[in-house]
Amino acid sequence: MKKSFTNLAKKLGYEDALGLLYHFPRRYEDRSRWEDPFLLDEGEQVTTFGKVVDQSIKFTRSSKKIIEIILQIEGSYKALKLVWFVQRYMKWSDWKGKWVIAYGRMTWKSKGNKREAQMMHPEYEVVEPEEYEEAGKLKMSPHLNRITPVYPLREKVKQKALRATIWEIIEKEQLVFPELYEHSQPRMSRGEAMLAIHFPESLEEVEQARRRLALDELVCMELALVRRRMLAAKAVKVRGSQQYDLVNTLRGVLPFQLTEAQLQACREIDQDLSKEIPMNRLLQGDVGSGKTVVALHALLRSLESGKNGALLAPTEILANQHFKNIKRLVEPIGVHVELHTRNNRFSGETLFSSQPTIYVGTHALIQGKVVIPNFGLGVIDEQHKFGVLQRTALLGKGEAPDLLVMTATPIPRTLCLTVYGDLDVSVIQHLPPGRKVVKTVLRDRSSLHNVWDYIKKENARGRQAYVVYPLVEDSEKIDLKSVKAGYEELKEIFGENQVGIVHGKMDAGDKDESMQKFRSGECGVLVATSVIEVGVDVPNATIMVIEHAGRFGLAQLHQLRGRVGRGADQSYCILVDEMESIDSWKRLKIMEQTANGFELAEEDFKIRGPGNILGTEQSGLPPLKVARLPKDLPMISKAKKLAEKILDSDPELSEHEGLKKVLGHYWTMAEEVANN
Ligand code: ADP
Ligand code: MG
Repeated sequence: MKKSFTNLAKKLGYEDALGLLYHFPRRYEDRSRWEDPFLLDEGEQVTTFGKVVDQSIKFTRSSKKIIEIILQIEGSYKALKLVWFVQRYMKWSDWKGKWVIAYGRMTWKSKGNKREAQMMHPEYEVVEPEEYEEAGKLKMSPHLNRITPVYPLREKVKQKALRATIWEIIEKEQLVFPELYEHSQPRMSRGEAMLAIHFPESLEEVEQARRRLALDELVCMELALVRRRMLAAKAVKVRGSQQYDLVNTLRGVLPFQLTEAQLQACREIDQDLSKEIPMNRLLQGDVGSGKTVVALHALLRSLESGKNGALLAPTEILANQHFKNIKRLVEPIGVHVELHTRNNRFSGETLFSSQPTIYVGTHALIQGKVVIPNFGLGVIDEQHKFGVLQRTALLGKGEAPDLLVMTATPIPRTLCLTVYGDLDVSVIQHLPPGRKVVKTVLRDRSSLHNVWDYIKKENARGRQAYVVYPLVEDSEKIDLKSVKAGYEELKEIFGENQVGIVHGKMDAGDKDESMQKFRSGECGVLVATSVIEVGVDVPNATIMVIEHAGRFGLAQLHQLRGRVGRGADQSYCILVDEMESIDSWKRLKIMEQTANGFELAEEDFKIRGPGNILGTEQSGLPPLKVARLPKDLPMISKAKKLAEKILDSDPELSEHEGLKKVLGHYWTMAEEVANN
């Protein structure tokens, strides 16, 4: 393989040139049809072919070089001008009498009362007269006269060079792509699909090839999941020796009764904990459904059996809140609580405590050097904000610890099985009693003054409001109100001391102070970014105003809306947006119409795909390169069956070397996750 191929592959992050074959096109351009360019409108793209009748070099006023070629279009009497601002790599040579095949965008230039057809910067290829006139047909080309692949690029990699390289590898090398597993009557073999995805005969063939490769990809994903689950089922827990009775004591001091749904989740957890293998459970419950007490139940159970527990939260604000709430509840019953965040470190790397302890923290808690003594159970709050590697890191702090992950971002059932296929699931279906549904309304900016008046009234009655903006600082590029500008404006309206601010770029101490002021009711309005999206719980807040609401995803809006309606009072969510397009209006309208997080998630999933629900790297699965969700969801159950069949007969994949290689580090990761 040429060295330049390998270099190119490395630039794109592949180890060797063959890796380029896994660099799949982003899209395709149909350059297979020749159309009469003179029938096309400004901006339309076309492939054209003709003989060079004239060529010239010109200079612009700023003495930039311009090459112009006049092409006598084959099968037409008209001539088309091709124009390039010369780049260094473009060679000037005598093209007269040669043939050129070009692909580009039509532009029409007015010249007096005539209009001249031009193509600016077309992609082109030169064809020698004998190649066309004598052979009577055009040679095969990777770039033109075909369905042309367009690849995702990185800096310094040129589309044409990349395409030519992949073409040459496919043409010159004797490539074999063996099937990865036994497969009953595939419509296309893996080998055919690998070639067709790069240089297809037709657009229909692209889709066939894509689906063929997507199945392989989904089988790999399912293999990792099924294996993770199989291995986890083998790990054996180590139990502590002390015995306490904490759960019952807590129930006695809780200011409310657990709902039936919460109790059910607690029972499921207790069942898991009584088994020899570690718990591996996902707790799903809409915003405000009361997952925290269920987490606390699990943590206390761990302490009861003589092991410490840890609760991991994605933001410092949330970790602080959990720390304070949990401490308030459990310190009186003899449980110690410690906070470990970036700004709140313990001295040394081993966290000390001889008392039964709950460690609450952010990412800082799972950093490599931190040792959590006698660690037996971990809870990850807002799991969708973490990656699988962080899950692994937390599990690595103990010997086969139990794990509970929680999420309020409802995941459509189908997708849930897919990405959390290795977890048992508990769902809290209903909110605690007495909650009123948050009323949601859409407003445009012109009615903001009414909104502010309303907040003033509510403030006077002792209620509080959040006002959320999408950006931290004013940006010149996009005309969006930033949180800082909003803060200044609202201070004018409500008074200096009535308004607090919190955003991700603030110091932890300042953040905490702002939250504290708001929590204690000292200020009536909190201006914020979406840092408050997850978990923040101030029951006295009854109004959520979201500016530029269209900038947020539905699931995110739902999370933000979930910050209010946490007490017994009627709460309101006011979505402010210019609603410039029907689409954005429709999307926000869905918010107005449904309060159900699961329905919203389904909608969001349909509109934006899974990436925005799960976060791209957050699911911890091999990133899907060819499979498309939700489009390919029906293929998943097939993939899962195939994966189970493969692992049943060959648990170590020793007879499926190809598969093992493709799975690469995900295979090992499944092992690590399971072994920890
Ligand atoms: P989330 O599921 O969004 O994490 P939280 O655990 O923060 O929800 O609970 C939301 C609010 O509901 C908290 O103020 C909590 O104290 C309260 N809460 C939880 N369970 C109950 C219950 N069974 N009855 C009444 N209030 C409850
Ligand atoms: Mg929560």
